[in-house]
Amino acid sequence: MTKRSFDLIVIGAGPAGSMCAVKAAERGNKVLIIDKNQRIGGKIPVTGNSRCNITNENISLENYVGKNRDFVRNVFALFSTSSLIEFFRESSVGLYREKDRYYPLSGKSITVVEALETKLKKNNVDFALGATVVSAEKSKSVFTVESASEIFISKALAICTGGKSYSKAFGSGGGFSLAQHFGHSLTPMNPGLTSFLIKDNIFKSLAGVSTEATLSLISGKKNIYLKSGPILFTHFGISGPVVMDCSNRLAQLELQTAEISIDFLNNAFSDFETFYREISFYPKNSILKLISRYIPNSLARVVLRNLSIDETSVVSSIKKTRARELYDFLTANRITAHLNKNFEEGQVTVGGVKTDEINPKTMESKKVKNLYFAGEVLDIAGDCGGYNLQFAFSTGYIAGNNALS
Ligand SMILES: Cc1cc2nc3c(=O)[nH]c(=O)nc-3n(C[C@H](O)[C@H](O)[C@H](O)COP(=O)(O)OP(=O)(O)OC[C@H]3O[C@@H](n4cnc5c(N)ncnc54)[C@H](O)[C@@H]3O)c2cc1C
Repeated sequence: MTKRSFDLIVIGAGPAGSMCAVKAAERGNKVLIIDKNQRIGGKIPVTGNSRCNITNENISLENYVGKNRDFVRNVFALFSTSSLIEFFRESSVGLYREKDRYYPLSGKSITVVEALETKLKKNNVDFALGATVVSAEKSKSVFTVESASEIFISKALAICTGGKSYSKAFGSGGGFSLAQHFGHSLTPMNPGLTSFLIKDNIFKSLAGVSTEATLSLISGKKNIYLKSGPILFTHFGISGPVVMDCSNRLAQLELQTAEISIDFLNNAFSDFETFYREISFYPKNSILKLISRYIPNSLARVVLRNLSIDETSVVSSIKKTRARELYDFLTANRITAHLNKNFEEGQVTVGGVKTDEINPKTMESKKVKNLYFAGEVLDIAGDCGGYNLQFAFSTGYIAGNNALS
């Protein structure tokens, strides 16, 4: 079997691998990119409901989890949100902002894939698509990478194989075992950006309804995370951006279960007395009508049913003690949430290749010279909002900019 030879082989053509290959090739290296799929892009096509929420205006350490979160600081100091926006502007992909999130102007994630394809081709990157890497070795400064049908050799290797999430279509356990083969350690892995499952789910009938709420994640007696935004009721529990961000914290702590406190009133009232004064202004209103001013009517019904309060009761007929029960339910509803452990449903993997073993200024392995890692294969996961693609592109860029330098 003939062995094609390259300066750099990149395994995985998702955002991290594609960016790495483009940058290394721009610097004059002969680069091969390998992917088990027939098209480049990795998970890009499915991101942001196929609109691709590519990055975020407000990126900070707090948006990420990982055993060594400081790693992120170095990464974004080298390739930031504005660097990514500029990269796509030069590639004729305009971006627009929705609140703090950026999307391609076309509203289609495929535009981003096409731009990367064009860049790869323009820089004469070689492709091996539909090829799953089954092994990689290093001997006497040469990497040998094997797929089912071909063997390739190179001076440098970049592992950009993504995580375990959505594993049927995109994921890799392969990248993690390659990393271990090269002497790297892995932190425990759990699905992230996923839903919470609730046993005896009193909100089951609300599947498909979404509402604004503030969630507090409680571990022991400590409130470990607080976030406000939309939550979505599902048949099995709750989901939506706020829940997904919470799931990253739970996964990071390797907890299967946690207590969650939900404030459906979103801090609308400073305390019970204020709430009580407010509702007492409308003595003749039905309690259902009044509560539905603050939360969806269907949720108000479930809450009242749960407290055995007749929804047709007028406010004046409700005793203050019952009003307090209602207030407590609406502002500090406690549920036991279980992390959805199905990697097929989590958008990212929390955990991965230990970042202590990677140089954050180059993405080079501290264990094997000329071996690089980028993207989700690393033990860093971000919140919903473009944080994961930015991390993948940034680390890919840094690896490509430093490979063989
Ligand atoms: C439904 C969904 C929506 C999301 N939405 C967003 C969003 O809007 N914004 C955001 O920032 N993030 C989002 N994410 C997360 C984001 O997609 C990932 O964090 C990002 O794609 C990771 O990039 P990557 O290059 O590291 O890995 P990937 O995109 O997973 O690419 C890895 C590539 O490696 C290939 N590969 C793996 N193993 C091998 C092997 N052995 N041989 C050959 N090829 C291999 C895979 O086929 C894949 O193409 C979303 C994720 C999902 C699942």
